[in-house]
Amino acid sequence: MSLISRNLQAVHGAIDAAAQAVSRQPHAVSLLAVSKTFAVSAVLEAAAAGQRAFGENYLQEALDKIAVVRATRPDLALEWHFIGPIQSNKTRPIAESFDWVHSVEREKIARRLSDQRPEKLPPLNICLQVNISGEASKSGVPASEALAVAHAIAAMPRLRLRGLMAIPEPTSVVAEQRLAFRQLHDLFDQCRAAGLDLDTLSMGMSSDLPAAIAEGATIVRVGTAIFGTRTYAE
Ligand SMILES: *Cc1c(COP(=O)(O)O)cnc(C)c1O
Repeated sequence: MSLISRNLQAVHGAIDAAAQAVSRQPHAVSLLAVSKTFAVSAVLEAAAAGQRAFGENYLQEALDKIAVVRATRPDLALEWHFIGPIQSNKTRPIAESFDWVHSVEREKIARRLSDQRPEKLPPLNICLQVNISGEASKSGVPASEALAVAHAIAAMPRLRLRGLMAIPEPTSVVAEQRLAFRQLHDLFDQCRAAGLDLDTLSMGMSSDLPAAIAEGATIVRVGTAIFGTRTYAE
């Protein structure tokens, strides 16, 4: 068994344990494998072990991998999620090549994605990224503006607003991890109470996955625990 498939098995075990600890169904949490900086061979190895959904942060790197996989292994039907920062002049290839975008933080970006989503594809699945920790430097719409932006996105014809995403400030204190995730869940409940048909809470990474699942994550985005430590090119 390859290292990646063993890691995937361990992550699924961690998801199941975290879900059972709070009496949630393990299948209510889906695993997004974050393959940024890893070669297409790593994606294919994970796919061979049954993984279908992959997350990417860097547009050109992602487009290269998607093209290789679609050309050489169309049978795999992988699902591609864009989770990185979005420049407004780069929305078209995102709208054309991805199934999901988790990192929408402005109405203007959402409008461009909707306008540019090809008619032959289903609506693009969207998570609104929220700045739950509240620091000025962090990405995401401020929590106080999230409901209004969510309403605007939900009305865009070629998008399907699925839910909220956050990357809280890193901390090893589990109580702090849970507090941040709970804040995102509260916002999610507010959006639903306001009539938005949301089903997705994208939260939790390798180091805070149990806390995210305890607070209701439906998608966890895991890179390191599956593929190993990343090394960034200079
Ligand atoms: C890199 C990244 C991840 C995965 O992080 P790990 O700590 O490697 O699991 C998840 N979400 C986003 C938005 C990322 O950029």
